Amino acid sequence: MAISVCAACHESFASLGSFDKHRTGSFSQRTRRCLSVDEMQAAGLTKSRHWHFAEVNINFGSLRKASQAVA
Ligand SMILES: [Zn+2]
Repeated sequence: MAISVCAACHESFASLGSFDKHRTGSFSQRTRRCLSVDEMQAAGLTKSRHWHFAEVNINFGSLRKASQAVA
């Protein structure tokens, strides 16, 4: 899996999609910046080893519950 590390805030991202999500503001108005940790969490990102979309964790959790129900 390709990890994207941000040159500005040095956070690492598990996908280009999650990397893009943490950048906000406008290039033309020169307000381009990184989201803060709180803002990233509010945007649906979560951090385990790297930042990624929180949905991934939810899927892991439901998979685990499903396997426990079978066992
Ligand atoms: Zn950044």
